[in-house]
Amino acid sequence: MDAAFITDWIDEITRLVAGEREHLTALDAAIGDADHGANLDRGFAAVRAALSARPPGTPGDALVLLGGTLIRKVGGASGPLYGTFFRQAGKSLGDSPEVSPAELAAALTDGLAAVRALGSAEQGDKTMVDALTPAVRALEQALQDGAGRRKAFDAAARAAEEGARATVPLRARKGRASYLGERSMGHLDPGAASSALIMRALHISASG
Ligand code: ADP
Ligand code: MG
Ligand code: MG
Repeated sequence: MDAAFITDWIDEITRLVAGEREHLTALDAAIGDADHGANLDRGFAAVRAALSARPPGTPGDALVLLGGTLIRKVGGASGPLYGTFFRQAGKSLGDSPEVSPAELAAALTDGLAAVRALGSAEQGDKTMVDALTPAVRALEQALQDGAGRRKAFDAAARAAEEGARATVPLRARKGRASYLGERSMGHLDPGAASSALIMRALHISASG
């Protein structure tokens, strides 16, 4: 997979986020401040502009550009967290012009570790970590079991979707939703929902 593959992934995330903007905002209205859809939509639009202005030469460059732009352009918790996820993944890939699915999986695992270090959220705290953790684990496992990249990315997306759904009954322990205490229960976490979109976009971009 080359820089163009990562750019396709980013474009697919941008499309899904734009389509789900109102839904993400409604989820955030229930347990946050109703800006998650707008935050990500604005961030990914800025990423699209940055990619056009300075087309990346390697997958690592593309992910570092994505991460850096989200950190700069998205106010709110999700900007620095997603920004860190992608930027760390990009740094882990280094400057190879082509990367394998296993290398991308290892880089995303590093990205997730950086998110956990920054936000100090554990699985079960009702955040994006609840979707990203099973996704990255399923991706690593599927590849180890010999799956091709399309099947492995599908497994990752399914695991993220399941992890997101599993946030519904939980009580939030990190981020804005944690201020609601028990009233955060019974709602899907917006960041977990957007993480599922990010992983589904990876599967779609490998299927096109
Ligand atoms: P804000 O809450 O600042 O308005 P967003 O609405 O864009 O930011 O993003 C909210 C999402 O960020 C939450 O749904 C949750 O998934 C994620 N989040 C918040 N705090 C943390 C944290 N400490 N660690 C991981 N994810 C977090
Ligand atoms: Mg918000
Ligand atoms: Mg906000």
